[in-house]
Amino acid sequence: MAATASAEYAVQHLIDPEICIRCNTCEATCPVKAITHDARNYVVDFKICKLCNDCIAPCPTGAIDNWRQVAKSAPFTLEEQFSWDSLPPQGELQVAADSEVPAQVRELTEIATAGQGGAVAPPWSASHPYANLYSIAQPATATVTGNLRLTGEQASADVRHIVLDFGNTAFPVLEGQTLGVLPPGLDGNGRPHFVRLYSVASPRDGERPHYNNVALTIKRVTENHEGTATLGVGSNYMCDLKIGETVRVVGPYGTSFLMPNHPGSSIMMICTGTGSAPMRAMTERRRRRMALKEGGELMLFFGARRREELPYFGPLMKLPKDFIDINLAFSREPGQPKTYVQDLIRARGRDVERLLRDDNCYIYLCGLKGMESGVLEAFRDVCSEHGLDWDRLKPELRTKSRLHIETY
Ligand code: NAP
Repeated sequence: MAATASAEYAVQHLIDPEICIRCNTCEATCPVKAITHDARNYVVDFKICKLCNDCIAPCPTGAIDNWRQVAKSAPFTLEEQFSWDSLPPQGELQVAADSEVPAQVRELTEIATAGQGGAVAPPWSASHPYANLYSIAQPATATVTGNLRLTGEQASADVRHIVLDFGNTAFPVLEGQTLGVLPPGLDGNGRPHFVRLYSVASPRDGERPHYNNVALTIKRVTENHEGTATLGVGSNYMCDLKIGETVRVVGPYGTSFLMPNHPGSSIMMICTGTGSAPMRAMTERRRRRMALKEGGELMLFFGARRREELPYFGPLMKLPKDFIDINLAFSREPGQPKTYVQDLIRARGRDVERLLRDDNCYIYLCGLKGMESGVLEAFRDVCSEHGLDWDRLKPELRTKSRLHIETY
């Protein structure tokens, strides 16, 4: 893209290929169909994008939240964006005087610098997250110290609990953050595999307290979205790792899906399958602090096909009832009706309503994309049954940083 002396400037919306996990949320959200993708990158068509920001908040990684000031006559083309492995730096533009740059361009450039573009803010009492400490160009190296199958032998899914130790390398994470793994080797086009993102499943002080390690919850992918047998590159690499092997890690990522820290704060967690990873981290953080009697409730809605498929089922069931209110939804348990988390939210309507009304309760959704609309509909039903207006409450939950969604 060439710089120009013309005063015709614009802000171009771009997607960071380094941290995009290709979840398609942005493409599905964009009201004007400005976002498209190839086998590798998601890109934004400058000619179509209206800078409406609708795609910003739903993006789980923040990859969507990138902007460059460009000459209107020479924006980055789709071809250029498809070829990127990382975003180009802001180019040198010859801006004669600040007043020549349109207000919207200035405003969005400020947003770009702040990196906040419309994502939900973390709870006011969340700890300060560190983000983007390690890049693809300079990843951290971690050693595998654990790789345990979580799902029963009879289970259809191979879900694993993988522990990575960072040794003397600082890799600070908070519950709710994610990290990226760089699988070795090249893809079909001879380019390095793109980064795979996983939620951290351990609390901030380590999978083992005061060790410099993190745990991940990873399901071996054996078929694609259409159900055709395909081995997922990242998940199979991770699930096959042996103790002592090393892994290249980037991140950490995520500055929004973070837990509250103030005494008396409650957490409602809703997840399916491996979407349980951040919920395990938050629950374990609270469990380690139980003796402090800081108050607040934990309510969990957790969906899996069958008992054997539910990661962390054993340890979860050992937690005291007055510490966490557990609601398990099994969709394929023989002899039982198909149950989804949203069915249990409706069944527990009275308690859900109480927590929806409570400004000290923060709500987290993580897991399958399909669950998101089902859960939000269930909230709507609970609200209408108990005299609350969901259409008014939902935006309020977002502005008060009380509703956090990460669905893929
Ligand atoms: P899964 O085993 O395929 O499904 C878990 C449960 O969700 C099943 O009981 C399933 O029921 C049910 N379900 C399916 N559609 C639903 C809907 N519309 N509403 C409510 N429940 C529904 O789950 P998974 O393969 O582990 O997938 C978990 C998701 O979490 C993935 O999208 C993954 O990308 C995401 N995630 C993973 C991580 C990580 O760190 N690994 C972190 C965050 C998010 P049926 O199949 O019987 O219909």
